Amino acid sequence: MAVPKRKTSPSRAGMRRSHQALPHEAHAECKNCGELKRPHHVCSHCGHYDGREVIAAGKPLRGAVRV
Ligand SMILES: [Zn+2]
Repeated sequence: MAVPKRKTSPSRAGMRRSHQALPHEAHAECKNCGELKRPHHVCSHCGHYDGREVIAAGKPLRGAVRV
């Protein structure tokens, strides 16, 4: 069985993990209430999309992500 010749140094482990950061979640400001919402999604705060109310405000949206 292949065995590593040397112990991984903290520096090398850090270099390897420099690519493990999670990408930033996409977000945009709601034009109606200013709350942060996902782009191309109904606002989970006021229920508006494209300048009009699509769903009653305050109603919990299925699968809506709160930012
Ligand atoms: Zn809104």
